[in-house]
Amino acid sequence: MRIYPIQTGNFKLDGGAMFGVVPKSIWQKTNPADSNNMIEMGMRSLLIEDGNKLILIDTGMGNKQSDKFFGYYFQFGDYSLDTSLASHGFHRDDITDVFLTHLHFDHCGGSIQWNKNQTGYEPAFKNAKFWSNQEHWNWATHPNPREKASFLEENILPIQESGQLNFISENSFQQIGFDVLKMDGHTEKQMLPKVFYQGKTIIFMADLLPTTGHIPVPYVMGYDTRPLLTIKEKEAFLSEAADNEYFLFLEHDAYSEICTVQHTNKGVRLKETHKFKDIFN
Ligand SMILES: [Zn+2]
Repeated sequence: MRIYPIQTGNFKLDGGAMFGVVPKSIWQKTNPADSNNMIEMGMRSLLIEDGNKLILIDTGMGNKQSDKFFGYYFQFGDYSLDTSLASHGFHRDDITDVFLTHLHFDHCGGSIQWNKNQTGYEPAFKNAKFWSNQEHWNWATHPNPREKASFLEENILPIQESGQLNFISENSFQQIGFDVLKMDGHTEKQMLPKVFYQGKTIIFMADLLPTTGHIPVPYVMGYDTRPLLTIKEKEAFLSEAADNEYFLFLEHDAYSEICTVQHTNKGVRLKETHKFKDIFN
């Protein structure tokens, strides 16, 4: 097995929305805001090469939305999915499986693109199976008003229409080759891949832990649908992560690919941040 971090781009989100009830005077120390109160975010996917499989975890926000839509998200930097794949010698048509942690646009938008004549949509990975789960799919295709702006029909329905949609069942390992932790605080049945690699455990954190600034247990995003449940899930998870020295792969941290955590007398806190290539060869 070989694993590669794949940065698909950077964007910005409102710092207040990203930190819920935490005051700016506190969060701006770890996540400084610009003059619009926006903080910098990454969209970092993970690529797993395992035998005949080439699995991409999450796809970034893609490029099919309107200029008006992208105007809200201030994308910056030179990364793209295609150039990041190419830097490791891969092309999007090589991808056999696209695993979607959840169907919010910044995680799955890159799954679907305009067709050649710009008359409709098609999968951006023509040879891939797409993986979600039944409960999350139902939740995303009948969205509540709170999440409606994050679950965009054009990112979701074409996956099903293409016939390339599959659902992860209880035995994810048999289906895709890694374990999956399901979390319900951010959205219904978000899936976090848990991958054993080179003697270590990597957890793909998705929106359970967007940045290292979100490690303290009450630092929960305003976007979460069940914040008290996120607190419970995060507290239990971070304690386990500190006990077992998990390597936490950060999808949204603009600066750190990986972090570890440790127990302190204030609770679980950041231990170290790492570049992926400094831990894994
Ligand atoms: Zn999300």
